[in-house]
Amino acid sequence: MRFDSLDALKNGPDLKGKIAFVDVSIIRARDGHGYGDGVPVRISGAIEAAKKHAVAIVIRSVGTEHSRLPHTGVMRYEDGTAQVPAGALSTNDADLLARTLARDPHALLLLDLETKKLGDVATANVVGEVKGSGAGIVLVGGHLDSWDLGRGAVDDGAGIGIVLAAARGVLAQGTPKRTVRVVFFASEENSGAGSKAYLKAHESELDRHVAALESDHGAGMAYAVRFLGGPAATPSAKAMFSGIPTIDWLETDASGGADIAPLRERGVPIVDVLQDASEYFDVHHSAADVPEVADPTAMAHAACAVFEVVSRLANSDLDLGRIEDSKRKQKW
Ligand SMILES: [Zn+2]
Repeated sequence: MRFDSLDALKNGPDLKGKIAFVDVSIIRARDGHGYGDGVPVRISGAIEAAKKHAVAIVIRSVGTEHSRLPHTGVMRYEDGTAQVPAGALSTNDADLLARTLARDPHALLLLDLETKKLGDVATANVVGEVKGSGAGIVLVGGHLDSWDLGRGAVDDGAGIGIVLAAARGVLAQGTPKRTVRVVFFASEENSGAGSKAYLKAHESELDRHVAALESDHGAGMAYAVRFLGGPAATPSAKAMFSGIPTIDWLETDASGGADIAPLRERGVPIVDVLQDASEYFDVHHSAADVPEVADPTAMAHAACAVFEVVSRLANSDLDLGRIEDSKRKQKW
């Protein structure tokens, strides 16, 4: 049975013996916000389908392209509810199924899933530093892991490259006032284990973390910077980041990626360098995420922007404060 939203499934009829099909299209946007609108279906669809006694769930891939390539990504089960099989259809196949069901609501869908859980293995964060003359630390990171369908070139090989290029720029400037700590996080996609391990290992020096920035939004050109820190620090941050060619200052709060969410929860200020994500969700978490889709010129532009921001942070004495309690939780 087809539903056009997660709420429609939640509020819909009992599905005993049926497969739930949640068919939510996401919009293409420079800031990529369509993904945030669509991803709850993938994350909690199986939980809601189980509550309705469905035998399985299929969803429309959370992507913006028209293709036959399905997208994968994290999904969850809940204690106390059945773990029903769950899969994502490519956008073209979701359209086909929607048309088929419109003609015949009793159409059969044969589902053959071969997924299995392989268990945990040991992995590691990679940490490097450009040592500063003072005590402060500016953390800049990306993540090393990716989904198995593609090569992870855009998510998040691009982020790793951008961060590395920015750090090289800082290194070439000589000793900064603050240490620039480059962190390549492990296991962002499946559990955030790398970010949790980082926090555990560096808990004692959390006070020295002045700001954190993560590059995990593809290989597009940078277009804006935004900040979330101590409320009194926002005007100074705005002054610090103004005047970077082609990069606008945005008044909205920074978000940070999943890898720096644990730092944000502890109040460490977050800086986002926003990249054009119009085409990111065409390839994200799919077999299309290969090196050929990353534009080196756009990536170089993003690396220059991240370098500018990190260099300004690292060579400043400005106290960016701490995020107030009510804003420490990431929205998704
Ligand atoms: Zn990522």
